[in-house]
Amino acid sequence: MTYPYLTIDLDKIEHNARAIVGLCAQHGIEVAGVTKVTCGNPDVAAAMLRGGVTAIADSRLENIQRLRDAGIDTRYMLLRLPPLSGVAQVVASVAVSLNSELPVLRGLSQAATRRQRIHEVIVMVDLGDLREGLWPDEVVPFMGDALALDGIRVLGLGANLACFGGVVPDENNMRRLVELTHEIERTFKIQLACVSALNSSGLALIAAGALPARVNHARIGEAIVLGRETVHRKPWPGTDQDACTLYAEVLEMKAKPSQPVGTRGEDAFGHVPEFAARGLRQRALLNVGREDIDVHGITPRDPRIEVLGASSGYLVVDVGDVAAGVRVGDELAFDLNYSALLRAMTSVYVKKRLFRAGVCLGG
Ligand SMILES: *Cc1c(COP(=O)(O)O)cnc(C)c1O
Repeated sequence: MTYPYLTIDLDKIEHNARAIVGLCAQHGIEVAGVTKVTCGNPDVAAAMLRGGVTAIADSRLENIQRLRDAGIDTRYMLLRLPPLSGVAQVVASVAVSLNSELPVLRGLSQAATRRQRIHEVIVMVDLGDLREGLWPDEVVPFMGDALALDGIRVLGLGANLACFGGVVPDENNMRRLVELTHEIERTFKIQLACVSALNSSGLALIAAGALPARVNHARIGEAIVLGRETVHRKPWPGTDQDACTLYAEVLEMKAKPSQPVGTRGEDAFGHVPEFAARGLRQRALLNVGREDIDVHGITPRDPRIEVLGASSGYLVVDVGDVAAGVRVGDELAFDLNYSALLRAMTSVYVKKRLFRAGVCLGG
């Protein structure tokens, strides 16, 4: 049986985490390591913790449960808004959650009180990216209600940018979040512990020293796993971009015309693809497809190889420029972007091989 597989170099994850944590520490920012792109992989979480993150954050309770079951002993943060139907599990599984709905906070409050626990919350503010969060003018009244709830401790405000609307963090929206923090502190005569304003899109702003001092928390995934900031997807200095590699096996190796032959309709996914006229080319069919990867998110490690497209179970690549040739049974290596990595980690057909100090930990 052949199968594609993904390797993760845990030493590189640890190294990247240490680089990001070090940078953030210089600017008074604590880092939660985000494991969701690896589906909450326990070895990845452990590597991030060795690299110095002070908490593990994930968007799915199932992932957090898996991490807990694997014995990863840390502070857990739930990134996706808790479901009203799942408040009891949230209180049982995580120390802190991100929130924007009063009915959910009331549910968390009841669940926490029943368990005689304090559940910590960060109130999310939408600074314009139009994903989760209260609109800024709703925050103060919301906070009045939130602060009155038993079993809930409001740690502070949070914001998430560059995920839905593509709005990047800048000095203006960061200042707005800090002003809101001050307004809440004045109105309710309290001190908020946390302003969790950033993800991997905020690294340039952090490094430039352009953040208000009150911003003291970031939730970082992509920059640790893939070594890139996420505004321009530029490699982040001091991090490795090749911690994750996809390997797929050549199933067929043939010379074929570069353009389809015959009357043309839609492909398997409803598109009519275009191919350049390049004459007869050497093409390889690999054992990975759209079910396992985002075809636009993978890049052959060998720059002479070109991805032509994919169906659900095949990847088609042009290997005509590889002078030594490619044979059936060869394995080709690919870099992955966030979207391709997410899909590969989620695919049950892609095996995962995690390495520490050159030794495979199984999988
Ligand atoms: C995914 C996510 C993050 C991490 O984003 P990266 O770009 O991977 O650093 C941070 N915060 C929230 C709320 C998220 O959903």
